[in-house]
Amino acid sequence: MDGRRVVGIGMTSQRTRERLVARLSEAGITDPRVLNAIRQVPRHLFVEEALASRAYDNTALPIGYGQTISQPFIVAQMTQLLLEGQALHKVLEVGTGSAYQAAVLANLIPYVFSLERLRVLHNRAHRLIRELRLSNVRLRLGDGHEGWPGEAPFDGIILTAAPLAIPKSLTEQLTVGGRLVAPVGTGGNQSMRVCERTEQGLICRDVSRVSFVPMKHGLG
Ligand code: SAH
Repeated sequence: MDGRRVVGIGMTSQRTRERLVARLSEAGITDPRVLNAIRQVPRHLFVEEALASRAYDNTALPIGYGQTISQPFIVAQMTQLLLEGQALHKVLEVGTGSAYQAAVLANLIPYVFSLERLRVLHNRAHRLIRELRLSNVRLRLGDGHEGWPGEAPFDGIILTAAPLAIPKSLTEQLTVGGRLVAPVGTGGNQSMRVCERTEQGLICRDVSRVSFVPMKHGLG
């Protein structure tokens, strides 16, 4: 990371970060742990330098290769939904992208694992996570449809790309009592779904309408 970039935006970002936290709070993010995590993570380092001045606006921004860093409200909402269940120890994210969501989770959960199918994005995220010394985050190039069998089971799984249906292998990598938060559906018709794995199977509810990039198959 270029030191000047970090210092240059310093004070401004602290103030604008507080403004973002206030907006999220007004918009219904009530969990103080989530608001605090958003406050901690320097979102301007996760977007392209030319967009840094907009990093604390409550909007999605492009991160290249047709992908976006999610809107802060969505990141906060998904994190809040994930934390509403049992205490989380180990979480899997599908769709590392910029690694912003992973960094937010890293402030709240002891072990964070995240998969990305696009090599360029994975490499960039890997460098940034190392530079920020987020030692409890592990990233891997991989197709989220397969999950991360070597590290399963997870007590939380979060998808930041939308499948048409929740992949069975992910459900199988969730502990009984574990929670999965995912956008599900096609581009024009997606819902944010919250599921819990019970002894009887997955029990889900849809909480809102959303618009995520599609979850794709294979690596790129
Ligand atoms: N969580 C990210 C949001 C990135 S957008 C952030 O905070 O910036 C969703 C990401 O999911 C994209 O980078 C896309 O390449 C990735 N993706 C799509 N399908 C995937 C799959 N099957 N496995 C892993 N990653 C996938």
